[in-house]
Amino acid sequence: MNEYVFHFGGGATSDDPRSRDKTITGGKGANLAEMASIGLPVPPGFTISTEVCTLYNQNGKTFDDALRAAVEQGVKHVEKATGRTFGDAKNPLLVSVRSGARVSMPGMMDTVLNLGLNDETVEGLAAGSGDPRFAWDSYRRFIQMYSDVVLGLDHHRFEDALEIAKEDNGYFADVEMSAEDWQKLVKEYKAIVQDEQGSPFPQDVNAQLWGAIGAVFESWESERAKVYRRLNDIPADWGTAVNVQAMVFGNMGETSATGVAFTRDPATGEKAYYGEWLVNAQGEDVVAGIRTPQYLTRAAREAANAKPLSMEEAMPDAYAELAHVFELLEQHYKDMQDIEFTVEQGKLWMLQTRNGKRTAKAALKMAVDMAGEGLIDEATAIKRVDPMALDQLLHPTLDPEATRDILTRGLPASPGAASGAVVFDADTAEKRAELGEAVILVRVETSPEDIHGMHAAKGILTARGGMTSHAAVVARGMGRPCVSGASALSIDMKSRTARIGGREIKEGEVITLDGSNGDVMMGRVATVEPELVGDFGTLMGWADKHRRMKVRTNAETPADCQVARQFGAEGIGLCRTEHMFFDANRILAVRQMILAEKEEGRRAALAKLLPEQRADFTAIFEVMRGLPVTIRLLDPPLHEFLPQGDEEFEELAEATGLGVDHLKRRAGELHEFNPMLGHRGCRLGITFPEIYEMQARAIFEAACDVADEFGEAIVPEVMIPLVATKRELEILKTLVDRVAKDVFAEKDHTLDYMVGTMIELPRAALMAGEIAQEARFFSFGTNDLTQTTLGVSRDDAAKFLGPYVEKGIYPRDPFVSLDIDGVGQLVEMAAERGRKTRTDIKLGICGEHGGDPASIAFCEKVALDYVSASPYRVPIARLAAAQATLG
Ligand code: PEP
Ligand code: MG
Repeated sequence: MNEYVFHFGGGATSDDPRSRDKTITGGKGANLAEMASIGLPVPPGFTISTEVCTLYNQNGKTFDDALRAAVEQGVKHVEKATGRTFGDAKNPLLVSVRSGARVSMPGMMDTVLNLGLNDETVEGLAAGSGDPRFAWDSYRRFIQMYSDVVLGLDHHRFEDALEIAKEDNGYFADVEMSAEDWQKLVKEYKAIVQDEQGSPFPQDVNAQLWGAIGAVFESWESERAKVYRRLNDIPADWGTAVNVQAMVFGNMGETSATGVAFTRDPATGEKAYYGEWLVNAQGEDVVAGIRTPQYLTRAAREAANAKPLSMEEAMPDAYAELAHVFELLEQHYKDMQDIEFTVEQGKLWMLQTRNGKRTAKAALKMAVDMAGEGLIDEATAIKRVDPMALDQLLHPTLDPEATRDILTRGLPASPGAASGAVVFDADTAEKRAELGEAVILVRVETSPEDIHGMHAAKGILTARGGMTSHAAVVARGMGRPCVSGASALSIDMKSRTARIGGREIKEGEVITLDGSNGDVMMGRVATVEPELVGDFGTLMGWADKHRRMKVRTNAETPADCQVARQFGAEGIGLCRTEHMFFDANRILAVRQMILAEKEEGRRAALAKLLPEQRADFTAIFEVMRGLPVTIRLLDPPLHEFLPQGDEEFEELAEATGLGVDHLKRRAGELHEFNPMLGHRGCRLGITFPEIYEMQARAIFEAACDVADEFGEAIVPEVMIPLVATKRELEILKTLVDRVAKDVFAEKDHTLDYMVGTMIELPRAALMAGEIAQEARFFSFGTNDLTQTTLGVSRDDAAKFLGPYVEKGIYPRDPFVSLDIDGVGQLVEMAAERGRKTRTDIKLGICGEHGGDPASIAFCEKVALDYVSASPYRVPIARLAAAQATLG
């Protein structure tokens, strides 16, 4: 069993590469071994491997003889290296015991310090250090920690006892406690243990050690560790390692200290040491915030105008050595390091190092800087930055320093932050915004009719709907922060008040949304503006050089197209034409068209819409000049456009000369029980061909006009939605071709164009080989394809998908991150079948998954030609596509 225990430090670091393998010795253990192997001062110790944890929990929680012998050897190694003996009354060895899984897991058992202290060794420690106060303080800390972490006793009784001791003595702070005071408290602590568990605090140091080792292993099976594993996709069989290491003391007087540090600033990425330290303290004092830590460097202290000396000033020698260690560590790990250290009577010891967590801004700066320094290459720099973290940089974000009065938390549907006055309908939003007021549109849910209000609002809050609900999709498209599915929100339209998380908010009162985490807050919270230049531009340039797939955008207004182009979009992958129909000066004509009983009536209304649609497409073609534009013909069920209240019916009656009753009856006829599976998509084009005719005409007229005006080729891609059969596409392609021919003849202009289809129904995926005979391109509509494959309504899923993900039924929300195992098979199969029929068929994805890094990696795997994402996701997709290419 010897190979399950690895020694480090004290000149005995194992040569076995497994000792530095995180899967074997855990993150903490592997890095300790690694630091020791490059000659850094690491207190000697040993690591029990993760495999032992698995065996222990499988084999009835027992230790076998081989392990016992190996641990004994480990202790001997530490004894030899320190010249102390475990359990020795005169010169005792004390150790720390810590868990350390492959990845850092905050839900796990934490640390036990000072293990090896008992009624005898405490005297040895007192004599050896010449500081009885330190010795008794260490002992009481140990009893408290061990009782909490290993024995599972409630820590409150210990804390109360300390408070009472201070009170009785009239002390204010722990530092006022004398050696005798601590000694008395130790007695009380031991009495508490006896009382709580019916047996005394273990005096046998080996029993203490095995107790702690067992507790670490068992903590792997604790409820909180299980929950953490589930939420972070950590397999149960990974297990945790145990690190046993000689104690070094930062609390042995004024020449001792302890601290945490980063080799670069984790908030800004600045190449400057950043950290905190405390003189005469143990590690937990820095983290626990009992004393205010001091600055590490003189520059940081001066910048903060702080008095207490920096480590650079107070301990120049130890600091110089620490700075040297920082350089060595960065050279070695080629990344920013997060470090824990202790200075014991002037001598520096390294207790931990790991790659440090960082903000998006810092991640970018460090990646670009390190590539510039030659520390890493471009490909590594690209892989260093989490694409989703870019979101933080693309929208204004809340000042992290600001306080938050949180009302509730919903789904983080569209990132960014916004403050504004609460309004409850789209018209009010528009009116108040026109007067220059920042407003937040608060709705139970949104519909296409609310578009103008959503556009006018700074942010959107809904009670219902998930991450791909209408509000979420549209908000992301517009770059508006949105919190959806906030179930603690109810709205009373009569009194125009909302209740959010039990508090009443009147229309006009200001709230703030954090679309990046779902927080809804009372009042205005300060924000900071995004910066898209500098490092951002540099890294994006590198990403573009390395990626294979193109990145397009889903956009339908010239303004959104412009934003997307600025963000680097290489074309439009999806222009949803239905949103254009809600414009104030066309909705009447749209309604007239829908409610007409005969074809002539529809044609008359469509004639009014034609110039408007043509103008839409002209504007878009102009903005997107030189780039491909995919325009999708009308998709949603017609009744979505119908008048809502009496007022709207009366308005329409006046415009059409038809009676309100007649119109209401017609509207009733259009009612559907299951509109998502009803009269929508290409079924509209099949039954009312004149609608698609008008749209095709508008597209080709606009394309000819713009091509003429700018002398540049425009290649429109006309896309037919919700196709299930080859015949549907055949009929509609014939229609589009006929209109194209007519327009080209009228304009005396020819241009290349393509007709293709969305693959968003399982049948279309299955029949892709046949459908490809008619389609020059496929665009995977994975929103509907997910909905129809899973049989889960995208608009109702929020209610139950949460628990589904928590229980691991789906690893992530399948509307956010593609269900690769299921829906992915359909995509892969359709791509393959499509290519077999038509080798040069163009393949893309335009569902929301086109902006999700994990889904983008899948698209690379099946070799799609492009992904299409909402404008604010374009940079994320560019980076994710590059990472997917680099593998
Ligand atoms: C889709 O279904 O994936 C798609 C892009 O179309 P929509 O979201 O408009 O239904
Ligand atoms: Mg769709």
